[in-house]
Amino acid sequence: MEIISREIGLSNVHVIRGEKTVIIDTGCYRNKAGMANELYLMGVDPKEISLIIVTHGHFDHCGNLKVLKELTGAPILAHEKAVKFLETGEFAPYVTRGEWGQMFFDMVKGSPLDITPGVTPDIVVGDEDFDLKPYGVNGKIVYSPGHVNNNISVVLDTGEAFCGDTIVINPFNNFTGTGALFCDDREALDKTMARLYKEANVYYSGHGGPFTKDQIIVDPE
Ligand SMILES: [Zn+2]
Repeated sequence: MEIISREIGLSNVHVIRGEKTVIIDTGCYRNKAGMANELYLMGVDPKEISLIIVTHGHFDHCGNLKVLKELTGAPILAHEKAVKFLETGEFAPYVTRGEWGQMFFDMVKGSPLDITPGVTPDIVVGDEDFDLKPYGVNGKIVYSPGHVNNNISVVLDTGEAFCGDTIVINPFNNFTGTGALFCDDREALDKTMARLYKEANVYYSGHGGPFTKDQIIVDPE
């Protein structure tokens, strides 16, 4: 199993190459040639990708969903609560944390970064765990609300978690690792963190990382 990560725009895109190859998140919008070039730089052949997973409906994670589907022909998997944002390409709701969060929100909204061509996901998951073995990955999808209520994570049997913006280490969370600039449900975020802490050892984030277990701080249950 091989993991390849690359920052595209503001956030990380991760490729897991196992029995089959899946891609997690897509970065900020690129045109077709631009996205093909990003894959080339990752050493990934678009044709090898058999599944596109989007962790949540924020522009910096789903900007290239449509173009990636066109390049690879692979289905898109998302949480049911993300569908309306992915289909409309609308700016998903942000619940900002403090003035820095608000400042970032105001800066991005309506800017060229905020481009999300609409696309309908092919595989929609709910709040129950979803087995990825039929898709060639020894792991599962885990519903991970808190950053936003449509966030999902991929947790591999070998202990790697790909958790979107659930675990990010920055000054805005006092370096605890708990969530990014936005958090729509603090209680849900703490529960998600506790579960990921229990089930994984290394955390591939949307921003920075990967982080180890001793870099994050989890409220005891
Ligand atoms: Zn986000």
